[in-house]
Amino acid sequence: MTRTATRVLVLNSGSSSVKYQLLDMRDSTRLAVGLVERIGESTSRLVHTPLAGGEKRERTGAIADHSAALKAVADELAHDGLGLDSPELAAIGHRVVHGGLRFTEPTVITDEVMAEIGRLVPVAPLHNPANITGIRTAQALRPDLPQVAVFDTAFHTTMPEPAARYAIDVETADAHRIRRYGFHGTSHAYVSRATAALLGKDPSEVNVIVLHLGNGASASAVAGGRCVDTSMGLTPLEGLVMGTRSGDIDPAVTFHLMRVAGMSADEIDVLLNKKSGLVGLCGDNDMREIRRRVDAGDERAKLAFDIYVHRLKKYIGAYYAVLGRVDAVAFTAGVGENAAPVREAAIAGLEQLGLAVDAGLNAVRSDEARLISPHGARVAVAVVPTDEELEIARQTFELVRERVNA
Ligand code: AMP
Repeated sequence: MTRTATRVLVLNSGSSSVKYQLLDMRDSTRLAVGLVERIGESTSRLVHTPLAGGEKRERTGAIADHSAALKAVADELAHDGLGLDSPELAAIGHRVVHGGLRFTEPTVITDEVMAEIGRLVPVAPLHNPANITGIRTAQALRPDLPQVAVFDTAFHTTMPEPAARYAIDVETADAHRIRRYGFHGTSHAYVSRATAALLGKDPSEVNVIVLHLGNGASASAVAGGRCVDTSMGLTPLEGLVMGTRSGDIDPAVTFHLMRVAGMSADEIDVLLNKKSGLVGLCGDNDMREIRRRVDAGDERAKLAFDIYVHRLKKYIGAYYAVLGRVDAVAFTAGVGENAAPVREAAIAGLEQLGLAVDAGLNAVRSDEARLISPHGARVAVAVVPTDEELEIARQTFELVRERVNA
């Protein structure tokens, strides 16, 4: 009996980390998940969890580079009888952060595709080089296997020009590919579709505002399944207040800091991306800790929470206007799925827009997609757990299933 290839390995490669999941696409089950972190340091750590039986395993000690990291992952999988040399492995799906305007769909990786991902490094200097390293490493391990890139920007390539362009000199913008690309696209795509399913509708029938609130955070306006606006821009810095990023800010703050504080471009980059947002405002970026402090009467934490919610509410209003008619607002990711006080505060006072949260439903903890708006509300408010890995695996498998099982 020939076995069909139905497994997909999903790799999310960062500059010093690799997150991975192995899924069986016959029924979308997860066979193993894991993480290698602090690659290149003496204190590297691999945490591997087999999900088809077996104990979670952890090993520490130097893992020199991405190649060594992926070999270590392959060893762990082989230990569980899930080796990457198995004929059941259909493809490797890679999360790639920046696909520019060219990549509107998941794409089988060729030399030409790699060259284009490389050409996008100037607009994604932190992310694309790590993604390229991850792909090259996986290619070296299984040169015969299809490798697929699933781009964080792809879902947003449907944004119309008025939403995608900055109001700056057109020649300068075009020469340097400066425009609004948006990120978290895989999550926005998955959650907008799952929200339509929750309402018992086809994605083409509904308009949804998706609020992806994790450590990074972004909002999107999705009309009939197509993204028409999103809050992140050229880079993930624009938009909502995030764990460590400022989100929207007057760009003149940058020149002011250069002139008045003598800061360099790199120092300001670190300030706005790593030392701002919730952590800059109150010293914590974990919403659990911030809520604990708010409940204990901490004024700084309260101000940070209020600034976070104020920005969120502004985007809900803006995207309501962009869409004209809204069927649902969906909360997702770490904060969106878990922080009931954020959901309550962001929707409070929006009754005129048909938006309300039922306190009892909002307090329920669950891993399932669910409605938290009062029964019969004009606009649904939903909590929809995101699953970027499953979405990457699905898109990857869809692209290769016929080819590998021909
Ligand atoms: P993510 O980037 O989607 O993994 O989200 C991570 C963030 O979710 C953390 O930094 C926390 O702020 C937030 N978070 C996770 N769990 C909870 C929780 N139970 N309550 C409130 N916030 C949470």
